[in-house]
Amino acid sequence: MIIISIGDNILKIKENIDNTCLKTGRKNDIKIVAVTKYVSIDKILESLKYGIDDIGESKVQEFLNKIDHIQPKPNYHFIGHLQTNKVKYIYDKVDLIQSLDRIDLADELEKRANLADIRVNLLIQINISRESTKFGIEENEVFQFIEALENHKHLYIQGLMTIGSNTEDKAKIRSDFRKMYNLSERIKSKHYDRVNMDILSMGMTGDYLIAVEEGSNMVRIGTGIFGEREKMGG
Ligand SMILES: *Cc1c(COP(=O)(O)O)cnc(C)c1O
Repeated sequence: MIIISIGDNILKIKENIDNTCLKTGRKNDIKIVAVTKYVSIDKILESLKYGIDDIGESKVQEFLNKIDHIQPKPNYHFIGHLQTNKVKYIYDKVDLIQSLDRIDLADELEKRANLADIRVNLLIQINISRESTKFGIEENEVFQFIEALENHKHLYIQGLMTIGSNTEDKAKIRSDFRKMYNLSERIKSKHYDRVNMDILSMGMTGDYLIAVEEGSNMVRIGTGIFGEREKMGG
């Protein structure tokens, strides 16, 4: 049996981020989202003891099964592909949906948020690497996408999210992350209503330090905190 110290892992990741910020001369304003898909409630509770305030889940049912057992309540991020017919289960239970990737999802979120009279905070997922296997809006379509949200008055776009290229090629990963930063700056300069670019969510276990070097302020880390995932029956 491999014993993984969640606390040590978190401290180490924080230290790596601190050092990278020092090296690149940027302020450490980086939020760590602990990605807890397939992670047990005990382990999640353990991570909360070590200063994790933000939890990322990617499966609706798994998220719903867990939330009642996790106290004190962390900030919840939904980071997976969200089916339109599942919006109703989570739109009012998560603090940030990071995976807005199509208009019909925005339509459904707006409908629900309007009825409940709440606002929904979102990141637009960008498919920056243009891999066909990935969800997300293409870089050159994002302005049109945002303009199509003009009447979605309950939706607040807080920034962008991407998943780094699935490659060993560090230069490619870096150049995609740099494109993301530049894209978020370009969107910011447009001053759209209900759109700010406060959050740039990029970087996972394998590439979070590159992401930090390229301007990420939110990293989503699963394996690096909890160890390899064991699928719990789906
Ligand atoms: C699983 C997942 C992560 C975390 O991946 P690790 O490599 O385990 O850190 C981050 N973001 C998304 C969208 C994920 O699905």
